[in-house]
Amino acid sequence: MSAECDGVLERIYSVLDGEATVAELADIHRHLEACPPCLEEYEVEAALKALVRRCCVEQAPADLRAKIVASITRVQTVQTVTARSAEGTSVVTRVTRTTTVEG
Ligand SMILES: [Zn+2]
Repeated sequence: MSAECDGVLERIYSVLDGEATVAELADIHRHLEACPPCLEEYEVEAALKALVRRCCVEQAPADLRAKIVASITRVQTVQTVTARSAEGTSVVTRVTRTTTVEG
């Protein structure tokens, strides 16, 4: 591993994140072609990143849905209200209330 390798390996991440400049890309690719250990490292990181990206894409909707469900909770309460009417008899009234709580 040379000092050049260290520099290339540091920049692999910005290449994978799409943050490297065209000049940097050319530099790194030139190095990777001539340096199998760095190329291997690059491929491992690229594969890892692709895997993470794929996982995130698959998990995001479910995760997002869970967040939405958690933030908006419909609380349905059934209240039984016992009141006394003017005639003195008990009147039972059921009140169904749906409350939307936004977190
Ligand atoms: Zn190298």
